[in-house]
Amino acid sequence: MPAVRANHLYKVFGKRASQAVALLSDGRHRDTIKDLNVTAAVIDVSFEVQPGEIFVVMGLSGSGKSTLIRMLNGLLPPTAGTVEIDGTDITTLSRRALRALRGEKISMVFQHFALLPHRTVLENAAYGLEVRGVSRAERHERAAHALDLVGLGDWKDHLPNQLSGGMQQRVGLARALTADTDIILMDEAFSALDPLIRRDMQTQLLQLQAELGKTIVFITHDLNEAMRLGNRICVLRDGRVVQIGTPEEILNHPADDYVARFTEDVDRSRVLTAASVMEPAPKAEAADWERVAPDAPVVELFQRVAACDSPLAVVDKEDRVIGAVSPTTILSALAMPEEASSAVPSLANGTRREGAAK
Ligand code: ADP
Repeated sequence: MPAVRANHLYKVFGKRASQAVALLSDGRHRDTIKDLNVTAAVIDVSFEVQPGEIFVVMGLSGSGKSTLIRMLNGLLPPTAGTVEIDGTDITTLSRRALRALRGEKISMVFQHFALLPHRTVLENAAYGLEVRGVSRAERHERAAHALDLVGLGDWKDHLPNQLSGGMQQRVGLARALTADTDIILMDEAFSALDPLIRRDMQTQLLQLQAELGKTIVFITHDLNEAMRLGNRICVLRDGRVVQIGTPEEILNHPADDYVARFTEDVDRSRVLTAASVMEPAPKAEAADWERVAPDAPVVELFQRVAACDSPLAVVDKEDRVIGAVSPTTILSALAMPEEASSAVPSLANGTRREGAAK
C-alpha cells in the first residue's frame, strides 16, 4: 500500500471552483478560464509515494507545490479528488480525526522554521510532543535522541539565537524526527540556506534516510536538489504534472521541451550512474577489469577510469559483469563537446567509439 496517494487532486480558489474543475478536467489550460475569476493552483494531480521513498515535487514558483503539500496533510481541503494516507482517505475525516492523524503520521518541516526564542534547543525539538501531551521525561528523551541524529547533541541547552541558520534548520528536522511519524513533508526546507550548508543538509538527510527509512515528500524549486534527493521526482508546471520519474528518467527522457530546458542546468555527472551509462561488456576481457557497482555516480567513475588503463566492469551483487564503462561511454553520456574530451586520458583499448573522443 502506498504511504501517500493523490488521486485526481484539484485545488481551485474562487467562487466558481467546481465549474472550473469541469473545464480543467477536459484538459483546458488554467489561463483559458480566467473569465471565471478563479485561481487553479493544483490541477488533476495523481501520484503514489511508496513507504521509505523520497518523493520530490519540483516546480517554479506558482506551480502549485505549497498548495499540494497542504492538501497532503489535510490543512487545505481539495476542490476535487482524494488524498490517501496509508490507505485512509483523509478528505472524509472529521477535523478531530484529521488532527489525530497528523499528529501520529505526518510531520512538516518548513523553510522558515518558527523556533521558540526563549526555549532551549531541546525544548524546541520536543515541542510537537508537548502539544500532544506526552510526558516531559519521554519527550525530552526522544528529542535528545533526535538532536543526536542531526548532529546537535551538544547544543541541547542553548537558545535558538545562539545557532546558525543551518543549525536552526536542523532543529526543525529534529522536531519532525522527535515526533517519529512515518511521513515527513518538507516544504522548501533547505531553500533559505547558503549553498554549502544546503549541500551538507542534503547529505545529512540522505544519511538519515538510509538509517530511518521515512517516507519523505520534499518540495523544491531547484532541480539539482530534486535530482540529488529524490528517488522519484514529480515536475509540476502551472498546476499540472508534466512528468513523474527517477532522476535518470527525467534527465535522459524529459517528457517535453519544458522539462528538457530545466535539465540543461543539471550536473549530469552527479545524477547519472554506472548502470545508466554502461555499454555491453566483452565478458572474457572484462573479468580482469576493475569493478564498480551499478549505482556508482559517474563523477566517481570518471576519476577511477582515468586512473587505470582499461575500462571499468560494472558488476551486480553476485559479482557478475553486466556492462562496461570507458571514458568514451562517460563522455557520450554527459554529452560533452568534443574539444573538452581531449582532457580525458586516452586508452589503448577497443571499446572506444569512432569519433566520440579524439
Ligand atoms: P508554489 O508553492 O509552487 O509557489 P503555490 O501553491 O503557493 O505555488 O501557488 C499556486 C497558485 O495558487 C499561485 O497562483 C498562487 O497565487 C495561488 N494561491 C495559493 N494560495 C492561494 C489562496 N489562498 N487564494 C488564492 N490563490 C492562492
